[in-house]
Amino acid sequence: MTRAVHAGNDVDKETGAIRRPITMANSYELPYDPTDINWSSTDGNLYTRNGGANQAYLQEKLRLLHGTDDCVVLASGVAALSGVFFAFLKSGEHAVVSDSTYIAAYRLMHELLPEKYGVRTTLVDASDLGAVREAIRPDTKLVHIETPANPTLKVSDIAAIAEIAHGVGALLSVDNTFATPYNQRPTDLGADLTVESLTKFINGHGDALGGAVLGSQPLIDRIRAEAMVNLGGAISPFNAWLIMRGSVTLPLRMRQHNESAQKVAEFLKARPEVRFVAYPGLDSDSGHVVAKRQTTGGYGGIMAFGLNADHDAHCRFVSCLRVVTNAVSLGHDESLIVFIGEKDERQHLYPEEFRGGFFRFSVGLEDTADIIADLERALYAARK
Ligand SMILES: *Cc1c(COP(=O)(O)O)cnc(C)c1O
Repeated sequence: MTRAVHAGNDVDKETGAIRRPITMANSYELPYDPTDINWSSTDGNLYTRNGGANQAYLQEKLRLLHGTDDCVVLASGVAALSGVFFAFLKSGEHAVVSDSTYIAAYRLMHELLPEKYGVRTTLVDASDLGAVREAIRPDTKLVHIETPANPTLKVSDIAAIAEIAHGVGALLSVDNTFATPYNQRPTDLGADLTVESLTKFINGHGDALGGAVLGSQPLIDRIRAEAMVNLGGAISPFNAWLIMRGSVTLPLRMRQHNESAQKVAEFLKARPEVRFVAYPGLDSDSGHVVAKRQTTGGYGGIMAFGLNADHDAHCRFVSCLRVVTNAVSLGHDESLIVFIGEKDERQHLYPEEFRGGFFRFSVGLEDTADIIADLERALYAARK
């Protein structure tokens, strides 16, 4: 909690303000003789796409929250993911990717990089260590997983997969967006790279996009040079400032998300209208044992569930909700729900129970009793 409050902030030297200001500048003053400057350099402030004041403050905070050497913040979670994939995969190289990930990770690794650049990827159920061992090859360069995963909430064993990846000299990258550093620190478990979509819980207020990659300095330097300076995935100083502000309350908010989601998952699990609930905090969940071992906080604010009902009843249920908002994204202050229907292109990759359509539900910071009452009312209303 203390680091979330203080890290990256200091007294402003010019005004004495106890908050560092927002620096909306594209450029910084050059020295008398600039001819020795490398225009692609990221050391020192030069041009905002090479780094800037507010980006640096946010990087300092995230680095301390994750306990890593270095951090780069970028325009979005997807800029962070593509930064990792472009930096560490060349044409013809092989990557192993979890079959349950954020849609853009799937698109990049399953379509864009293979089709445009000849990267070879194997999708694998990363919650199954045997399957990961089988997918890995002597020439695998990168293993990318998400845990808990979007949208199935599947849990993967970070330490065990790090060992498998390192056995062939591959890097392990973990998308930690659902967990945040409050619930899980992949680097402590052996991951080389941690990816966060700052858009979600870390900002927490649903008003700015951002992403980060954390790891050792040589790895992060490559992402900085490639994804930020030359692919142009820089974050706006304003968004970095908003995320810095939102992240002050991350530990408090995560405590509440963890507590409310646990209660909501238990409520849903006990309802006859509910076909299934996937939430790692439930004792009965297939990921519970590993999640319990890995977590430093709790099981997060996201779950998936489906109803014992047809397609229309799922839509009707969402339309009857008054406290919970019908929108994509997750980790905002308000509760968000999205119906992922039977036509989803990744159906065949989901566990059996997901195939009749399901909701991804991000439990917000409203009173838990209000969220549960809203769900209860909508379950009743959706019957007709
Ligand atoms: C939202 C999300 C992303 C992408 O983040 P953006 O900031 O929207 O680009 C990546 N991974 C996971 C797990 C996400 O939920």
